[in-house]
Amino acid sequence: MTHFDTSLVPTGDIFIGGEWRQGRGNPYKSLYPADQSVNMEISTANADDAREAVEAADIAWRRADWSGLKPHQRALILYRIADLIMARHEALAQLQRRDNGKPIGETRVLVASAANTFRYFAACLETLDEEVTPSRGDYLTMSIYEPIGVIAAITPWNSPIASDAQKLAPALAGGNAVVLKPAEVTPLVSLALARICEEAGVPKGVLSVVPGKGSVIGDVLVRHPLVKKVSFTGGTEVGRGIARIAADKLMPVSLELGGKSPTIVFDDADLDHAVNGVLYGIFSSSGEACIAGSRLFVQRSIYDAFMKRLAEGARKLRVGDPSRAETQMGPLITAAHRETVERYVALGLEEGGRLLCGGERPVGDGREAGTYFQPTILEGLTNDARICREEIFGPVLVAMPFDDEASLLKEANNSVFGLAAGIWTRDYKRAYRIARALETGTVWINTYKLFSISTPFSGWKESGMGREKGRLGIREYMQQKSLYWGLNDAPLAWAN
Ligand code: NAD
Repeated sequence: MTHFDTSLVPTGDIFIGGEWRQGRGNPYKSLYPADQSVNMEISTANADDAREAVEAADIAWRRADWSGLKPHQRALILYRIADLIMARHEALAQLQRRDNGKPIGETRVLVASAANTFRYFAACLETLDEEVTPSRGDYLTMSIYEPIGVIAAITPWNSPIASDAQKLAPALAGGNAVVLKPAEVTPLVSLALARICEEAGVPKGVLSVVPGKGSVIGDVLVRHPLVKKVSFTGGTEVGRGIARIAADKLMPVSLELGGKSPTIVFDDADLDHAVNGVLYGIFSSSGEACIAGSRLFVQRSIYDAFMKRLAEGARKLRVGDPSRAETQMGPLITAAHRETVERYVALGLEEGGRLLCGGERPVGDGREAGTYFQPTILEGLTNDARICREEIFGPVLVAMPFDDEASLLKEANNSVFGLAAGIWTRDYKRAYRIARALETGTVWINTYKLFSISTPFSGWKESGMGREKGRLGIREYMQQKSLYWGLNDAPLAWAN
């Protein structure tokens, strides 16, 4: 039974080499996390399908009908993709809600951001210069950029349409062909996006979408000799495995991985904003965000009062039906993932933590049928606790007091991850000092979880390698080439 418009993915077919057809893998039932009802059944790829997609992409990339287009011609198609996304904005937002259970308010924003991503990279493509480098002899030198070839884009389940767009837009802009492997549990939006790309005029074979199991289909893509770059967003351990294979192939990879981001509240902060921002930073998307602010450091002089307000705020969050515009937290992605989150909460308690709020499944309003979990705050632990060191990827915050900047920085930076951080203070000099000293790719000051496609995003330490977004995001999907033009009428001196 379906409870939403499936016209964006009408058949359950997958998209290989420009053809819509049944994949030869095991069929997959997409479930709605809010009540476990079946959205629809789709076919998935098997290893042969994945290989076929790569081979078709290699042929497509070598043809001139995509990689050989002038930048403004490719850009035109990317603008069309953006327009078609916006034309189907509500249907895509509903599809993503059904596929991964995010509240509709959030999925509407994600769909619009995906359209913006295509527009932004279309504009970058049209305006990005190649360089005539300073001449050092009787020759002219140029630095130009070529496509890389076949890109494997592997994405996670937490914000599929945004993650897909962040890879597809710059990779297609760069003139490459892309084989996209969405997460097992959220294939629908990626397939809908492929229909849009096809309709916008992306030539046959330039894009394939191969839903299926990561350890099988993802692995085939990473190892395939015709795949020349992998762009991966997902967990750190899977990313590490991909990097090992890439090392053997001497293949570039970009890895956007996990996080355990610190949020820091100083005693001079605007506390209304800080309470609000900390709650948003950890509990929006039900904490299923790589950048979730999951470790909270609060200056000791305000710790008790701040935590009281924070816990009161967390208890009031509207956890429930993702189809309601006012819902702030939907269900977690799967029952298995909720069990992982529950195990971490139990571990935190065993390690000596105390619950300030949450820690259980919410009841009432039909939520028993879904994979919901209450916003949860623990305290009484140190940064050495396992739940402070490991990514939980759920609505669980651990709060700790701090006394001075030196000890704060030591603890905030004491993590294998280095994705993001937040600082709440009115003292701009201190904010600048701390922001510079934090070992993370992004720092939010008096705000959290804001995103701009024009600003690069990268993880430090075990949170990743490479950059996404920003004007030079396309260059991650191009290879540089140097041209030397001889201008001297005489032969090279050596030849005489
Ligand atoms: P995951 O690593 O389990 O899976 C990510 C993708 O990789 C999926 O498509 C999966 O099928 C595939 N995959 C799994 N095993 C593979 C293998 N052996 N070879 C190739 N591909 C394989 O991650 P997830 O559970 O889908 O997503 C959650 C993780 O993603 C979290 O750790 C989160 O922090 C991270 N994430 C990071 C960012 C970022 O930008 N840094 C953004 C979103 C999510």
